[in-house]
Amino acid sequence: MTNGTRIDPEVREPRAIKIKTQKRKGKKIALIILSVLLVIAIGGGIFAFVNFGDYFEFDQFGKTAEKSDTDEEPSEPEVPQENVSEPETPEKPESLPEVPVVEDPIIEENPIPREEWFMVLVNAQNPLPEDYNIETVSVDAKGHLVDARIAEDLLAMIAAGESEGLDFVIHTAFRSYEKQKEFYEAGKTGAAPGTSEHNSGLAIDIGCARGEFEGSPEEAWLLEHAHEYGFILRYPADKVDITGFAYEPWHFRYVGKEQALLIKESGLCLEEYLAQ
Ligand SMILES: [Zn+2]
Repeated sequence: MTNGTRIDPEVREPRAIKIKTQKRKGKKIALIILSVLLVIAIGGGIFAFVNFGDYFEFDQFGKTAEKSDTDEEPSEPEVPQENVSEPETPEKPESLPEVPVVEDPIIEENPIPREEWFMVLVNAQNPLPEDYNIETVSVDAKGHLVDARIAEDLLAMIAAGESEGLDFVIHTAFRSYEKQKEFYEAGKTGAAPGTSEHNSGLAIDIGCARGEFEGSPEEAWLLEHAHEYGFILRYPADKVDITGFAYEPWHFRYVGKEQALLIKESGLCLEEYLAQ
């Protein structure tokens, strides 16, 4: 049994040694495999880097890779930024100018300045308030008053006509609310206070010093040129039903040069024009 017991450790020892050597061999094999794998991995990585480098460069960078030959590494983030920004930059200058170009004509196409002082509509349905207040100035030797803002254009119109040998005279200009009330109550006018355009200071009754205005050269000249100075014939013969006034060839109304031209070209009276 002693032998057996002696043998056993002897037997076990070489077994253990064999096991150990087998383990060592296994470790060596594992190390070899690992090192081979490492070599393959490193070699494969180098191989892939060297061989597929051209492929990756072509695939990712495309044609732009040629431009960034000197800076290969920093070119990677720059190239996609350039590719994104390039289509954006031409879109901006194309899209931005298109908006105002399209909108401006629409806005300016029919800009009736309804709230402007020179576009105020005065008639029986639209009387001026009793406290309507304007600054007036005299425009002739008789002291006829008009809204101070139209005096320059009015005097320029009269001067232009007179330079062509015409002779204008102003019969009526501004009439105050109180004066209109006085005339109305005295039966001198059918227009109630505030309903006469003369209460606005924007209207004149004009004539010629030589006699009858209707059919005169002064009338013909005004029908041709009054709009150039901001005036329109306010009560045309073909608009009596709309204006409520009989034909008054002598009554001109200031609306500003721009609107006077538009109204003249439209063939509308002021009521129709503002009702657009
Ligand atoms: Zn008048």
